Amino acid sequence: MPRKGSLAFPTKQRIAENQRKMCAVDGCYSPRSYTKQYCRKCAHAFQRHGHPKARAIRPWEYAAIRKLVRSLLKQMIPEVHTDALATMAECLEPGREVKRNLFNPKYHAWKERLRLQVNKVKIPLALEHALSVMVMIAEQPRRFPNRATEVRAVGRAVLRLVPYYHATMWDDRKQKNVSLQRRQPAASAFDVVGADVFRALWPLAKQLARRIEEDRNKRNEEIARRYREQQHAPQP
Ligand SMILES: [Zn+2]
Repeated sequence: MPRKGSLAFPTKQRIAENQRKMCAVDGCYSPRSYTKQYCRKCAHAFQRHGHPKARAIRPWEYAAIRKLVRSLLKQMIPEVHTDALATMAECLEPGREVKRNLFNPKYHAWKERLRLQVNKVKIPLALEHALSVMVMIAEQPRRFPNRATEVRAVGRAVLRLVPYYHATMWDDRKQKNVSLQRRQPAASAFDVVGADVFRALWPLAKQLARRIEEDRNKRNEEIARRYREQQHAPQP
């Protein structure tokens, strides 16, 4: 008899059978991974971003939105801006220490918030990034297939502002410092922090999104009007 838990006959066969099937995602034709219903890539996306078709949001993707958000924040009533900053600071406050338990999302969230605090994250910067991603969510709903994806994108945008923990060691052969360990925060930390930020700042983000859209429409109309005038101007 094979030992319990070893990759012996039944499991091995199950894996072999499963790997002959296609990924469960529409339009993905890769073979499934181990005993999962998704292929390797889709399973990874599901675990990290909350949906097999979701992908990471990179800062350069919302750089243009961030520029607009920054200028709008400057034009805002000072009290509203201070309020938003205070809310953001509250969301990133680590609070009381949580006992180490890798199955407790609150432990991971506490650890990541502590990392931000120790590395002195800039609250205005965090506010800008979080609001920009939320404006992106309001503008491009197709990019975020479900709520988990939205929440994780917001959490990731905030938690990636200071470098992830890693230890370095001098490598004689390569003649440079090599990173021993580079860890991403646990996905559940994105969930907890992202949900807090999302709940607190979504109304403001929606306002900003509406404002940005109005400004854009106004500018487009202005350009169209000028173009029309040029077209119908009497020829000299
Ligand atoms: Zn797939």
